[in-house]
Amino acid sequence: MRKVIITVAPTGAWPTKKDNPNVPLTPKEIAEDVYESYKAGAAIAHIHVRDDEGKGTMNKEKFEETVALIKEKCDIIINLTTSGDLNATDEERQAHLKSIRPEMASYDCGSMNWMHKSVFLNAPDFLEKLGKTMQEYHIKPEIEIFDAGMIYNALYYVKKGVLKEPLHYQFVLGAPGGIAATVENLVFLKNLIPPNSTWSAFGIGKAHIPIMLATLALGGHIRVGMEDNVMFAKGQLAESNAQFVVRAANIIRECGYEVATPEEAREILGLRK
Ligand code: ZN
Repeated sequence: MRKVIITVAPTGAWPTKKDNPNVPLTPKEIAEDVYESYKAGAAIAHIHVRDDEGKGTMNKEKFEETVALIKEKCDIIINLTTSGDLNATDEERQAHLKSIRPEMASYDCGSMNWMHKSVFLNAPDFLEKLGKTMQEYHIKPEIEIFDAGMIYNALYYVKKGVLKEPLHYQFVLGAPGGIAATVENLVFLKNLIPPNSTWSAFGIGKAHIPIMLATLALGGHIRVGMEDNVMFAKGQLAESNAQFVVRAANIIRECGYEVATPEEAREILGLRK
């Protein structure tokens, strides 16, 4: 029976309470939402944190507080962002990894223009440092792919020893500045990664459900949550992150697959014991 991993991305760096009053921003709100998502079937929590004004931050203490609150409640796999603030230094983007040692963390495999407004910088020397930090601390990188060239960056870093196969890729479709959220693009990206890889994908905004269905059909894992969508459906704000997870779990079961538990996801992704 195929097991599908659901990642919940509850917060992200951008959505505000104005976009959706239900987006969790404080450590307590995030931990509660993650726990509800875990009960609904999420095996991985992709975590961003916010400062006291609600802005995206790489503040190590906020990450520590949030992760501690989640761990009190459940054994969901913790996947920390390394890209929670476009102005953070290379060191600030890794400090929380060294203190928390999460099982996973995001690895954005290239730079891009972000939302037609700013630059999302992931310079070569930063990616080399980050890859080495993750190897040293036994953190599995989630290779975030916003465009096809980023896959070739990842393959270069594998050759260089900065990244170690088998890799887990996360295809981000529909971010302004990145590749558009179409099924053709998803098939194209999926066919570029080595066969020993695992992968997941999601579409931002209205392509969310079509990309989820295509991902399930193609053998991938999925990601849901308010980092990617504050609307549950057209004209309907999401009530919680768990609401997305419940729908995703139902769709997985309708396909005849099973929802992976955190333990099963650890096995599938080869996470450290
Ligand atoms: Zn993120």
